[in-house]
Order: sequence, then C-alpha cells, then structure tokens
Amino acid sequence: MMIDTFAMQNLLKVDADSSRIAIGMDIGGTKLEAAIVTLSGDVIESVKVPTASNGPAVLAQAIAVATNLKSIVNSRGMVAAACGVGTAGVVDKNAIVSANSLIPGWAGQPLQAELESRLGIPTHVINDVYAVAIRECLIGVGRNQPSTFVTAVGTGVGSALVLNGKLWEGEHGLAGSLGHIPSMVREGRACACGAIDHVESYAGGRAIEKEFAKRCGRKVKMPEIAAMARSGDTIANQLLDTAGLVLGQALASVAALIDPKCVVLDGGMMALGDLLLNPVRELMKREAMISGLAIPLSVTPTGTHAGVVGAALHALSQENTHNAPYEPSLHDCKTT
Ligand SMILES: [Zn+2]
Repeated sequence: MMIDTFAMQNLLKVDADSSRIAIGMDIGGTKLEAAIVTLSGDVIESVKVPTASNGPAVLAQAIAVATNLKSIVNSRGMVAAACGVGTAGVVDKNAIVSANSLIPGWAGQPLQAELESRLGIPTHVINDVYAVAIRECLIGVGRNQPSTFVTAVGTGVGSALVLNGKLWEGEHGLAGSLGHIPSMVREGRACACGAIDHVESYAGGRAIEKEFAKRCGRKVKMPEIAAMARSGDTIANQLLDTAGLVLGQALASVAALIDPKCVVLDGGMMALGDLLLNPVRELMKREAMISGLAIPLSVTPTGTHAGVVGAALHALSQENTHNAPYEPSLHDCKTT
C-alpha cells in the first residue's frame, strides 16, 4: 500500500459531498479513542476509554465504541461513509501482523473484518503513528511540506517518515520504529519488543512506569510520576530527564540523517510538557544542526485527536478513490 499524502489531499479536495463524515479510531497501549470526523478534519463527537488488557478484549471494545458512534451518527440524520482505524502494532494490508507486549494477543485479531461487518461501512486499518502523520501532512504543520518526521511518544514510541509527500513504510511495514533503535544510555533495560536498551525502554510511558516501580517498590501511573517530578522527587526527575535525553538523541540522529523540513511530536507523553521537552529541545539544539540550521520541532496541541483524525481522513480518501480520478504524482513508482 502506497500512502501518498499529496494524492490524498487531492482526493479529499475533489470530494463532491463536503458533508461526508467518517468514524475514526486510535488504539494505543493505554487508551482507545474514537470520534466522528468531518472531511475537513473536525471532530464532532469523541470518546476515550482505557485500552482493555488483551487482544480479544480490545477487539470487543473497539466494536462497542464504533457501534455506539455509528448510532450517534444515525440519530443525527447523518451517514458515515467509512471507518478508519490507527492501531499500535505493525499493520500490513489492514491486518495487524505483529504487536509487542504493550497489547498482548493483539496480532492477528480480525479488526478490519469485524468492524466492517458490524458497522456495514468500508473500514481501513493502518498503524497509529502513520495515522498521526497523515493528519499532520493533510491539515497540520506538515501540510504541503515535502518532508516531515512524526514521532508519537505514549505507552510506546513510534515514528513515521514522509518524504516527497509519501509515507515510507519500509519493506516490512516497520519503517519509523524509532522506539526500537538502540538507546545511547545503556542501563540494561528490557524493551517491550524483547531486546535490551532500546529508545522505548527509556522514553516510553510503560517503560518509565516499570522502572519507577523497580526503583521505588510501588506501581505508579505516568500522571502521578509527572506530579512527583514537578514537586521535586529525585527518582521521577531522573527518569524523565533520561527519557528526554534518549528521545532527543534519537531525534537528533534522525534529523541529521534525513534533514526533514520539520519534526512533529505527538502522543500522551506530551502532557509532561517541559519536563520531557526541555531535554529534547536542548539535545536537538545542540546536535541537530545542519549547516547551522536547527530543524524546527513542533508539538501537536493537546486535544488535537491527531491519530483519530488521520485514520478517518485516510479512510475517506481511500473511499474517494472510487469516486474521483486518481492523479498520480510525479514521484509515483510504477510496478507491474
Ligand atoms: Zn525494542
């Protein structure tokens, strides 16, 4: 599947019916968010629930949430043209081909088939960070930009690379696995993927909670760790400083490698604000300089619903390919 954000923009622009809406969904390791989304990316109604603990339960949850939103759509006399889902894990042709321990048993769940049959509308499933990148490139800071690098830091850490308007998925749908490149800090922390000392082992929310529990002997969720850091707790501050340092080093490396127009940060961990972002900015300023130019770093504002909106816009554009002439961009690579 080729995700071409420039072509998607054309497909959405030529939509004959500007009142078209979609149901968008974002399934992460901590929360499942869904919304009714318009063609211009506005959210009409949204719902957020904590993600269930295992694959089959998450599937049941996704069906319940989407069905409920569809009844709201119907009760308002509207029609949902499609359902778009962005989910944690590696997604290939609408199927969740692998997912790590952040959602146990998620790989192989028949998400697309079940949603499509229960909702009775075309359903498209993509990776959650790819969905965020699509939103950024269609209506966010990456709009009309040739290159954007998007990183979502939440329960885990993921990225998406858009070059010449096209999302680079890699040969195995694994491109942008920023969370699973080696960290420059080496404390021997296990990563959710099974390896040791990956970026996610230091910068992902679940990993920070795990390390805090190991050091302090009690299980505490991220919002509380953030509150403790703000009130001067040494361990909480150390963990967040290290998270920012590791994330900043990884982003600076990417920036030096691909020289993007902008770097966009999204995800639940952005709620930490300066606690996480100050060390990231510091590293980016110091390291990510190419010919004296700093790469702009942008954070999606709270309440953007970026993953949900991106997934919905992706689904709408996919449906529109049947109604509108597809105009390939100059960079399309023809295969036979
Ligand atoms: Zn890993």
